[in-house]
Amino acid sequence: MDARAYRASLNDGRRVYARGERVTDLAAHPDFAPNIERTAEVYDRFEADPEAREAFFTPPTTIEGMRHHAALHVDSATHTTYSSLMTLLTAADRIAAVRPQAAEAVAAYVAMVRDKDLRIAECITDAKGDRSRPPSQQEDKDAYLRVVERRPDGVVIRGAKLHISLAASSHELMVIPTKAMKPGEEDYAIACAVPVNAPGVSIVNVLNAAPPEGSDPRDFPFANQRAVPQGFVIFDDVFVPHERIFLDGEVKQAAVFAHSLGLWVRTSSMISMCDGFDVMVGLAQLIAEANGLERVDHIRAKISEMIIHSTLLRATLEASMVHAAKLESGVLAPSEIYTNAGKYHGAANYMVMVRHLLDIAGGSAITAPSMRDLENEDIGHLVRKYMGTRQSIDGAYRTRLFHAVHDLTTSAHGGAKYAGLLMGGGGLYAQNIVTRMRYDIERAKRMAFDAMGWSPERD
Ligand SMILES: Cc1cc2nc3c(=O)[nH]c(=O)nc-3n(C[C@H](O)[C@H](O)[C@H](O)COP(=O)(O)OP(=O)(O)OC[C@H]3O[C@@H](n4cnc5c(N)ncnc54)[C@H](O)[C@@H]3O)c2cc1C
Repeated sequence: MDARAYRASLNDGRRVYARGERVTDLAAHPDFAPNIERTAEVYDRFEADPEAREAFFTPPTTIEGMRHHAALHVDSATHTTYSSLMTLLTAADRIAAVRPQAAEAVAAYVAMVRDKDLRIAECITDAKGDRSRPPSQQEDKDAYLRVVERRPDGVVIRGAKLHISLAASSHELMVIPTKAMKPGEEDYAIACAVPVNAPGVSIVNVLNAAPPEGSDPRDFPFANQRAVPQGFVIFDDVFVPHERIFLDGEVKQAAVFAHSLGLWVRTSSMISMCDGFDVMVGLAQLIAEANGLERVDHIRAKISEMIIHSTLLRATLEASMVHAAKLESGVLAPSEIYTNAGKYHGAANYMVMVRHLLDIAGGSAITAPSMRDLENEDIGHLVRKYMGTRQSIDGAYRTRLFHAVHDLTTSAHGGAKYAGLLMGGGGLYAQNIVTRMRYDIERAKRMAFDAMGWSPERD
C-alpha cells in the first residue's frame, strides 16, 4: 500500500468513537489525522523503496542485523506491527510441542499481513476487574476477554482490551492473554487475530497528549509529531475463525504470548528510550549554553549524571543484542534479562532525567511566551529582547528551546509520555519479575560464600 491506499483502507466500516461521537472519516478527524499521516509517510517511503520495507519486516538473524534494525526509524504503527509479528513467531516457537498447529496458523497469518501490507495493534491489557481476583473469580466473567461460544468453524469472544495504542488506525488486532491462566480458566486462554472492522468490535478513543487546538506547532514540537490515540477496544461477541486462532484452552501456555510480547515491546521501548535520553542530554546542554551556564560545576554535574543514565541504557540495549538467543527458526530474540533490566532502569530513572532538565532550564520551561507572541508587531521585539541572553543567543532561539523542554516534560504530552514509558509493556513490577526470573541467584549465593572464604558444607 502507498499512503493513499492506506488512508482509504481505514474506511472499512470500523466502529470508532472519539469525543463522544462515532467517527466516520478517520483520516480527516483532528484526533487521528496527524498520526495517520505519520504512518502514511512510512507507507510512501516503503512504496518507493520496497527493499527498505523488506529489510524492516525481516527478522534479524545476526547481531549486526539486530543493530541495523534498531537504528531504523519508522512510525509507531509500523514498529508495533513488527513487534506483533515477532511476538507471534516467538510464541509459536515456544508452544510448538503443545500446539503444533499454532506454527502453521502463525506462519499463514504473518504471510497474509506482510502480503497485504497491514498494520497490527497489540491487544493484551484486559479490563481486569478486581485486581486481587483471578479471571474465573471475577463478579463479571467478562473482566478478562474470554471465549463465550464454540462453533464448528471457530469461537466467539467477549471482553475489552484497554489502553490499546493506535487500535483505531490499524487493520488488525492481535489479541493475547494478559497473564498466566490456571486449570479451570481455559476460556480465558485465547490468542487470536481479529480485523479492526470485524462485527462486534468497537473502539472508544482518547487523545490526551495532543497539543491544545490552534496552538503554534513550534510551541509543541514533540506532541505535534508524536501524540498517539489510545483505544478502549470492546469485543462484543466477535466471531473468530479457526485459522486466526493461535491458542485456545492451553492454560499452561497462556503466559507465553505475554512474555514473548513483553520481550519485543520492551526492546522497542528501550530503543526509543535510548534515543529519547540522548535527546534530553542534548536539550540540557543546549539550554545550559543558551543560559550561559554550561561551564558551571553543578550544571555540568547534572548533565554528567544524565549522560551516565543514557549510556547505561544504551549499554543494556547493546548487551541484549550481544546475548541474544537463537530461536528454532534461526531468528535472534534479544536477551530477556538485559532487556528487562534496561527497561526498568530507564523507566525508573526517567524522572531523574526530567528533574535535571527542568532544573537546568529554569522557570521559562513552563512560562515562556508563545512563538506567536514573539512575532506580535506591538510587543514581540520586547519579548525577544528579554528572552535573549547575549548577542549570539537570540530570544526566539532560546524561547523555542524552552518550548521543547516544556513539551518533553510537563505538557500533556510530557506527562502521557512518562505514563506510557512506565506502563507500556507492563509496569515496573513486570520487568522486576522477568529480571529476577532470569537472574542466576544460586550463582550469586555461591559467590557470596566464596567472597567470605566460607564453605558452609566444610566449616
Ligand atoms: C500510554 C499507554 C499505552 C499503552 N499501550 C498498550 C497497548 O498498546 N496494548 C496493551 O495491551 N496495553 C497497553 N498499555 C497498558 C499497559 O500495559 C498497562 O497499563 C499496564 O500493564 C498496567 O496495567 P493497568 O493499567 O491495568 O494497571 P494495574 O494492573 O491496575 O496496575 C496498577 C498497579 O497495581 C499493581 N497490581 C495490579 N494487579 C496486582 C496484583 N494482583 N498483585 C499485586 N500488584 C498488582 C501493578 O503492578 C501496578 O503497580 C498501555 C498503557 C499506557 C499508559
